[in-house]
Amino acid sequence: MTEVRSALEEKVVGAVRASRDELLGLTAELVACDTTARSPGMPARDEEKLQCMLARRLDALGAETDLWEPEPTGTGNRHVPDDLDFKGRPQLAARLRGAAGGRSLLLNGHIDAVDVEPREKWTSDPFTMVERDGRLYGRGTGDMKGGIAALVVALEALRSADVRLAGDVVFCTVTDEESSGAGGWAAVAHGITADAGICAEPTGFDAWVACRGTLTPFVTVTGRAGHAEVRQPHWREGGAVNAIEKAVPIIQAAQRLREEWRDRPDHRHPLLSPGDMVPTIVRGGNWEVTYPETCTVCFDCMYLPTHLDADGTGRLVEAEIKRALESAAAADPWFDDHPLGWEWRSDVVPAEMPSDHELVIATLDAGAGIGRPGKPGGLDSWHDAATFTRRGGTPTFSYGCDGLATAHTIDESIVAEELVDAAAIYALAAMRWCGVA
Ligand SMILES: [Zn+2]
Repeated sequence: MTEVRSALEEKVVGAVRASRDELLGLTAELVACDTTARSPGMPARDEEKLQCMLARRLDALGAETDLWEPEPTGTGNRHVPDDLDFKGRPQLAARLRGAAGGRSLLLNGHIDAVDVEPREKWTSDPFTMVERDGRLYGRGTGDMKGGIAALVVALEALRSADVRLAGDVVFCTVTDEESSGAGGWAAVAHGITADAGICAEPTGFDAWVACRGTLTPFVTVTGRAGHAEVRQPHWREGGAVNAIEKAVPIIQAAQRLREEWRDRPDHRHPLLSPGDMVPTIVRGGNWEVTYPETCTVCFDCMYLPTHLDADGTGRLVEAEIKRALESAAAADPWFDDHPLGWEWRSDVVPAEMPSDHELVIATLDAGAGIGRPGKPGGLDSWHDAATFTRRGGTPTFSYGCDGLATAHTIDESIVAEELVDAAAIYALAAMRWCGVA
């Protein structure tokens, strides 16, 4: 079925199109809030203001709104950073009760957006949304304040078209997707679930039903400091050892492992790239003429849903990485008494849901029906949908207008008409999934 199915659906699409200004206006209001994704220790900015703004809109639709600041994270949870404070960063869940008997739908988005720097390179101010040649420019237009606004306007259009859904809608906006996923985690811990969910990331009208997970090891190689410009005795006689040079075979071992993964059958996935291991940070040395005593390398390690262990963690992948790098170290007797140091900063879990799930089909059909055909796809990176799917038991995928190409870049933008269509598709998907009373 690839058309708008009924007069009622026609009316809803019309109501969304009539709300174009409303949609662009709300997107602009969200963009104007500074919700820059946090770096460690960064205090909150406009997160509360933005969530309150959304809560008022949902309130006006008769939703039961719940705005809460999660308790700070403790230690020992490998999936969220230690001691993360949510002061000034509330999470929002708003339940719109259905008339009963229908399936419930989670509509999710993250309110944080990546840093705008270097701000002076933007053609126009990143916090002031501007429409130029049919595109909406501003930080977060695509990733993903536009998507959040489209979800709100979809629900408002259903209301203005007098559509009462049979099932509940749970609208949930979270913080910290760009940094750690801790907001989505907190939402699931708070009990946010539904029968299925859509996360309004910019997918180009495809349905991202799968994503990879991430492990972030920081591997420290120890050397021995010494003057770099004087002759050094052998290390066994107390001579200096260059930690940066000792890190080279460790980085090469990581390269070999990623090459191996590319060809290994267990790293084949119909929608995702194989696992990968990319060195992203190197820190070593502290003086121009001193042998560096330590060198720490951070690796961004991506792994597939099929590599999760029985507990739903990436410990098996962790062990494999450790084995590969340790065996490179074992070839050099220096490491016998100076073992590699390991710090695993995070384990952000991968997830997937069936690409023929009824909500996926309903959403893609609704998209095709208004001229935005799409297909099931995967996200090689990560999104909050994974947490709702894997931890919350709510099969959730990402779906929205195009926007990935400029996400996280200077002059981030989306096409205004695509955003309007995305809102219409969200409304139709809700009708087809939740049922109409
Ligand atoms: Zn995003």
